[in-house]
Amino acid sequence: MNIVVCVKQVVDTAAEKRLDPASFRLDRSGENVLNPYDEYAVEEAVRLKEKHGGEVTVLCLGPDTAAEAVRKALAMGADRAVLVTDPALAGSDTQGTAYALARALEQLEFDLVLLGLMSTDAQTGQVPAALSALLDLPLLSVLNRVEVEGALLRVHRQTDQGYVAYECPLPAVLSVAKGINEPRYPALKGIMGAKKKPLEVKDAAALGLDPSRMGAGGAKTRVLAVRVPEPRKPGVKVEDDGDGARKIADFLVQEKLL
Ligand SMILES: Cc1cc2nc3c(=O)[nH]c(=O)nc-3n(C[C@H](O)[C@H](O)[C@H](O)COP(=O)(O)OP(=O)(O)OC[C@H]3O[C@@H](n4cnc5c(N)ncnc54)[C@H](O)[C@@H]3O)c2cc1C
Repeated sequence: MNIVVCVKQVVDTAAEKRLDPASFRLDRSGENVLNPYDEYAVEEAVRLKEKHGGEVTVLCLGPDTAAEAVRKALAMGADRAVLVTDPALAGSDTQGTAYALARALEQLEFDLVLLGLMSTDAQTGQVPAALSALLDLPLLSVLNRVEVEGALLRVHRQTDQGYVAYECPLPAVLSVAKGINEPRYPALKGIMGAKKKPLEVKDAAALGLDPSRMGAGGAKTRVLAVRVPEPRKPGVKVEDDGDGARKIADFLVQEKLL
């Protein structure tokens, strides 16, 4: 079974996020990590390989520094990786990102594409749906259980009430929910082994990307301005000397909420 897992490199979740005042793009010059939501997708891919055999390929679009995040996924047990990197891809919006990933997938053999629920920086959650549409494959998202039986997928989609069970023939695009599994910590052997695993680098030309569909020039969304949100007004504290309810009612009337 050939599984491709898409991973993104993001700014360290603990680090302060800064936007470049000129381009309004996220400053990625500091500490970066493998997108935490993608660790669940990598773990799920490796578990499916351990159960059914086959190969796990990591696919990442990002700056050349993203090779670090890719190496972490290889250390977790993936077999090989493709890093799509090209200055021309900078400023791509979610459509541009999905387009480049779809073209890269067309050059790979796969039965299943796994993605995380969202990135911790842009958090749009749009890439899985955009990718499945471009590949013309079914999307099963927010999954907290994935099982494969021959050429059939049996999955549970997480809902507020519990889950919904789906069956779907392979190939398909899946996004997995946080908590679907416990991502393993790469052991030293895995980290050392990851350095030897194949990591192929492809640029826009290698994928035959249409410049009008990628990068800042091809983006369908543009950030016009950025401002720091107003600090929230402190709440109103009501001392209850037996008349708390009346004070709250008065406050709600005053605020025209009653
Ligand atoms: C703060 C900020 C806000 C942004 N807002 C928008 C916006 O509103 N609209 C817009 O179009 N673009 C936006 N972008 C730009 C950029 O388009 C997105 O970061 C990028 O396209 C991926 O979208 P995402 O991070 O929301 O991914 P999501 O859709 O949240 O990610 C879902 C999954 O897709 C996969 N994935 C996402 N990115 C990659 C990648 N580069 N390589 C491999 N797999 C990947 C991962 O498995 C991930 O878990 C923003 C960027 C930033 C930094």
